[in-house]
Amino acid sequence: MSKVKNWQLGREVEYPYDESRPKRQWAIIFDLNKCIACQTCTLACKTTWTSGKGQEYMFWNNVETKPWGGYPLAWDLRILEKLGRQDWGKNGEYLGKTLIEAAPPTERVLHYAPTDEDWMYPNVGEDDCAGAPVDSGGHVQKLPHDEWMFYLPRTCAHCTYPACLAACPRKAIYKREEDGIVLIDQSRCKGYGECVRACPYKKSMYNPYTRTSEKCVGCYPAVEEGIQPQCVVNCIGKIRVMGFINPPWKAREDNPIDYLVHKKKIALPYYPQLGLEPNIYYIPPIHADPEYLHQMFGPRVDDAIQAYKQLVDDPVAAGLLCLMGSSDRILHRFAVEKGVAIGYDADGAEIVRVPVTEAIYERSAFDAGRGAARHNTP
Ligand code: SF4
Ligand code: SF4
Ligand code: SF4
Repeated sequence: MSKVKNWQLGREVEYPYDESRPKRQWAIIFDLNKCIACQTCTLACKTTWTSGKGQEYMFWNNVETKPWGGYPLAWDLRILEKLGRQDWGKNGEYLGKTLIEAAPPTERVLHYAPTDEDWMYPNVGEDDCAGAPVDSGGHVQKLPHDEWMFYLPRTCAHCTYPACLAACPRKAIYKREEDGIVLIDQSRCKGYGECVRACPYKKSMYNPYTRTSEKCVGCYPAVEEGIQPQCVVNCIGKIRVMGFINPPWKAREDNPIDYLVHKKKIALPYYPQLGLEPNIYYIPPIHADPEYLHQMFGPRVDDAIQAYKQLVDDPVAAGLLCLMGSSDRILHRFAVEKGVAIGYDADGAEIVRVPVTEAIYERSAFDAGRGAARHNTP
């Protein structure tokens, strides 16, 4: 086993291969305060990539309601239960074991295998709430809410240390040097399903028709052309932005992803304790149960929520959030100048500009010029 640096855990972790970070690392940030579970992202991916035979139950992008939803069924509870209680240190350093460090001697990764039935209910638990009953009163007047749930959209995390890649006995899975996207070579895959069992996020899936495993491809043909993935550009709630993340020691303040993850620290990886350095990042929901959020996002979640609440006094960060969903192009750099947020491509050319505060126009109910009455809508 090699020792590799995992900045999300603040320490080195064990991995079967040496550290080899790609030139660029694909990443998506999701603002969980804005997702409405419309599933447009899910369908955008499905119609693009998984409408074939054997892919009927395959959702490379899914959106589940937390805490009760999960696709496949209870995927996170089951792997967390297997790992058992682990702890974080006072300085945010992870003291517990990762899935690779906790693996039994004959296995590469601590894992569980979902059954066929576990894959049959992609929307189980939708809109089911947790916490105090609704009639307990006052449940939305304070934060966090007594009664809560939130929507969690998920794609493959194109992990820095993928468990799927570590477990594949055929070496059919590889991580691309140019963008960090993790792909399965369909000509090498023999469908042993080791990746399906090993991925704790359950984002590698078995196709019984082709008898190979398949997974989110990060929309690499679009990314190669400077375009964001389908699930990102079709997001109705404009809750997502895709870009490239640097490790903290190479972070650039004008890179939108680095800014939100490393500078403002309001976007966090989910279940970082599993040890894979996943590259999808979430702005946590401010209304949900803090203990639950601690388990999902680690000890920095309280600070992230505080920072998010203060965005109203932070024109640069607020401007950057306005750029989410504003263009289908990948934003490599951003700036906020005189109340306008501007996004730039890899060559430094301007792609998009958005006012941070939308202008408000008030119209009188009766337009004397046209002699017509209007119905103003709020
Ligand atoms: S999320 Fe799962 S399938 Fe995706 S790279 Fe990580 S381990 Fe592999
Ligand atoms: S990045 Fe592309 S392949 Fe992956 S979930 Fe999104 S739409 Fe599907
Ligand atoms: S399209 Fe956007 S808002 Fe709708 S479910 Fe997907 S992530 Fe949430």
